[in-house]
Amino acid sequence: MSKSKPDIDTSAADRDLYSGLIRLHVLHHAVEGPVFGLGMIEELARHGYRISAGSLYPLLQGLEKKGYLRSTERRNGKSLRRVYRATPLGRKALAASKSKVRELFHELIEGD
Ligand SMILES: [Zn+2]
Repeated sequence: MSKSKPDIDTSAADRDLYSGLIRLHVLHHAVEGPVFGLGMIEELARHGYRISAGSLYPLLQGLEKKGYLRSTERRNGKSLRRVYRATPLGRKALAASKSKVRELFHELIEGD
């Protein structure tokens, strides 16, 4: 949870490489609790991913279209904020991805 992680320019060509990780990250937090665009941009920045609202919002909408997230509008002061939660399908997809992530982790990091 340190802030010293190297910045990854997710607006560059590497974005394709990281987009799956970003989706899993979003899904993980949406399972834990409600997430919203700006909060998620800050959370991803904390992990070293720079993603613009123009990239994140379509990503959230895409996850909702696939049935992994469901959004509702919540009043936040004077404005409405779109808030996303994981659906049962999203929880299932995240759980299934965990073994894949674990396996990749072993190979990448532990060299198995
Ligand atoms: Zn996180």
